[in-house]
Amino acid sequence: MILDDVTMPEYERGILDSSTVIIPFGSLEEHGAHLPLCTDTLQVVEVCRRVAERAGVHLAPAVAYGVCRSTRNHPGTIGISTATLRAITIDLVRDFHRHGMRSFVLISGHAGKTHVLTLVDAGEQLLDELPDIRVSVISEYNEIQEAGKALVEAADDSHAGEIETSRVMFLRPELVKGTSPAEWPVFPDARLVRDKRRHWRGGVWGDPSRASAEKGRQLTEIAVARVIELIRELEDYRESTGGAEPA
Ligand SMILES: [Zn+2]
Repeated sequence: MILDDVTMPEYERGILDSSTVIIPFGSLEEHGAHLPLCTDTLQVVEVCRRVAERAGVHLAPAVAYGVCRSTRNHPGTIGISTATLRAITIDLVRDFHRHGMRSFVLISGHAGKTHVLTLVDAGEQLLDELPDIRVSVISEYNEIQEAGKALVEAADDSHAGEIETSRVMFLRPELVKGTSPAEWPVFPDARLVRDKRRHWRGGVWGDPSRASAEKGRQLTEIAVARVIELIRELEDYRESTGGAEPA
């Protein structure tokens, strides 16, 4: 069920069919001069909606803000701290658990490393705290990058590049405003930089000119199939009953 849309009795019945809930995490973040600030949220919600319908699991409303480090000085990026993301993740899982959910799919459309690691950190704490839950943390972009590589032409495609532009062209073509120049920013190896825009003028990583709506359709399908596979693996998983770890 789509939790935004159901009533109390529908929730009570729905929980008997499945105790798996997907919580999507997006961001309000610059995506070059051509894609909307909601790009990450849009992509992950559209994938999760298809997954929920096909796999018969439940979809929670998205958390539409994320931890955005490298784009934080670009206009339009409005982020939250790791402490806030960690706290809201823990609060949501605890409350869904209180209302009968047992398998939790924390899936991010924003691929920022610190952001995804914060979800992992929250998930690990929840595993300690709630002995009867299972948790997956999925970075939807990373799954697509791996499973969709045959479709992608540009090397080292990432933020607002060929993949994301294709996906928004497929999902919401009216939100794509032309294109942006190809860009592959270079940050120092170890030194943290305050003026991040100096290293990343246009806010694009990759080549959006290679994008197409048809690629976007195929990449979306790849993401849906992969997320369903990961959910089945999560639901089938049984914890060991204790004793020594196998050698
Ligand atoms: Zn993105």
